[in-house]
Amino acid sequence: MRMNGSWHVYRAGERWQRARRDMRIVVATDAYEAVAFSVPVAEFLRERDLQRQEDLREMGPDLLSDDFDRAEALRRLREQGNVTVGDALLNQRVVAGAGNVYRSEVLFLCGIHPRATVDVVTDAALEEALSTARRLMRANVVDPQSSIVTYTGYRRTTRRADPAERLWVYGRARKPCRKCGAPIRVVRIGPYARLTYYCPRCQPVAATY
Ligand SMILES: [Zn+2]
Repeated sequence: MRMNGSWHVYRAGERWQRARRDMRIVVATDAYEAVAFSVPVAEFLRERDLQRQEDLREMGPDLLSDDFDRAEALRRLREQGNVTVGDALLNQRVVAGAGNVYRSEVLFLCGIHPRATVDVVTDAALEEALSTARRLMRANVVDPQSSIVTYTGYRRTTRRADPAERLWVYGRARKPCRKCGAPIRVVRIGPYARLTYYCPRCQPVAATY
């Protein structure tokens, strides 16, 4: 199972960052609105249906959860063998929660080339990728208790306040790497050919990581 389209969470009354015509679903409470844009398929489940849903039962450990099951996440990552680390991190049956922006940012911060597969990466490096994903994602959560992320129009991973400096590599093709100055590259990888941004110098091709 992979994510398509996107869900944004807004405070009630906040302006949406995407066009209303792309809206497919709104789930609203007094305080928040969860809006799904361009989602091709959605399913509404009652609580008693949940246990019967194989897809949901098989979701990997939740990266945002306080009691994130690191060992189980690592075990599920290892099962991905010849899949790229980036695609494995996006597979919701491996770990739940990461989206395409985080894929590029995590690989960059861990120095892993976007075409590197799980089986050339050590346990230590995979654990680092998991903790990096957790740290970046939790930094974008407004209320860690409820895991509610309101949509601010951007994700921030560099901890810089300036919106133009908010990400390390994602969306920065041909711009200089923030660490070494080399031009950032972009490739299409994986079954959905989604864009992955990387620095060829900070993320070299290597036999092992
Ligand atoms: Zn670099």
